[in-house]
Amino acid sequence: MPKIYFIDVTNRDGVQTANLGLSKLEKTMINMYLNKMGIFQSEFGFPTTRHESLYLQANLELAEMGILKPIRLEGWIRATVADVETALRLVPNIRHLNLSISTSNQMINGKFRGTKNRDDILNMMVDAVEAARSYGAKSIGVNAEDASRTDIDFLVKFGLAAKEHGAHRLRYCDTLGYDNPFTIYETTKTLAEDVGISIEMHCHGDLGMAVANSVAGAKGTLDGGQDAYINTTINGTGERAGNADLVATVLAITKSRGFAEKYPLGRSIDLRKAWKTAKFASYAFGVPIPINQPGVGANAFAHSSGIHADGVLKDPENYELYSFTELGRGEPELVETGRQISSGEYSGISGFRHIMGKMAVSFKDTEEAREVLELVRYANVEAQRPLVEDELLFIAKYPQIARKLLTLNPLENSVH
Ligand SMILES: [Zn+2]
Repeated sequence: MPKIYFIDVTNRDGVQTANLGLSKLEKTMINMYLNKMGIFQSEFGFPTTRHESLYLQANLELAEMGILKPIRLEGWIRATVADVETALRLVPNIRHLNLSISTSNQMINGKFRGTKNRDDILNMMVDAVEAARSYGAKSIGVNAEDASRTDIDFLVKFGLAAKEHGAHRLRYCDTLGYDNPFTIYETTKTLAEDVGISIEMHCHGDLGMAVANSVAGAKGTLDGGQDAYINTTINGTGERAGNADLVATVLAITKSRGFAEKYPLGRSIDLRKAWKTAKFASYAFGVPIPINQPGVGANAFAHSSGIHADGVLKDPENYELYSFTELGRGEPELVETGRQISSGEYSGISGFRHIMGKMAVSFKDTEEAREVLELVRYANVEAQRPLVEDELLFIAKYPQIARKLLTLNPLENSVH
């Protein structure tokens, strides 16, 4: 029986968002949180981008150490042989790739300006898939950019060619958020039936339907007999109006009327980690969570009007579809109201020991404490805000990995 899986793309689509970004340590923390939630795969970055290399390698090391496990770490590149080669040269251990190319006439004509036709697109994609396979890629997804504005016959042809050459998934990108639940259902069902390959839903919110479209696309894919993979980002962070929000989409799949009974998850998701994950992404991106955000917004479990307050006090199920404890909420949060000592890029050993001591972290000697402090200072240089407890603990626990994440060496000649 086909199932639904989640592929979070915060560390790729989320960080592409205008005016926003994450440090390499923050991206690593996101992978850690996604892993704890039980997310199947993280699109963890750009293997052809030089400043990502050490971050990607360090995260693959964490996977080998059994820390980032069982989450699958996959990189996004363009569907060209050159990108495959660069990716494998810069990040030799990467084994999961998504290869992206535009498929709509609008983009083929609008981007390539008459230098490429549909056959060229098919050939580029097929060559890139072959190259990825020959370099030992274990899983390959092929992304049809602007798929929702691509005619179905060409999409089927594109999918069949990808499958024939060894691709494992076809990413259906509703790049401009143009679909509605009815159209995406029909298209993904046809693709699943006619191509016979797992389909990834990649939905954007330009018309406010990213979550609804992801649910409908997953239904179409499963009805067509294939596994569905839903692309999400934490708090819906993504280009323009954003992507399908991770928590809202998990809630929609698992809690909406009668859906989960017919369309189950392939890996269970621990929503109790949702609150912490959403809060961290909000802090790291510097973007507040809207108060009416499903599950994690400040008002998601707030009641004030007489009838609602009375009803929810008598029985929460009167006015709450799910409980706040299921989302990992309800724990008191400690907010310092008196003296505050936080980490910074100019922190000293005494303040640092005080902060770590509060978290019951002790060092074997001053030298070890100084070494970790030095890394924490560098992390602050990148983040320009006090680190959260989980980040400090991460650095103290994995100083060698942290050192890699914090190393950024622009090459004198970086043009290749
Ligand atoms: Zn996107």
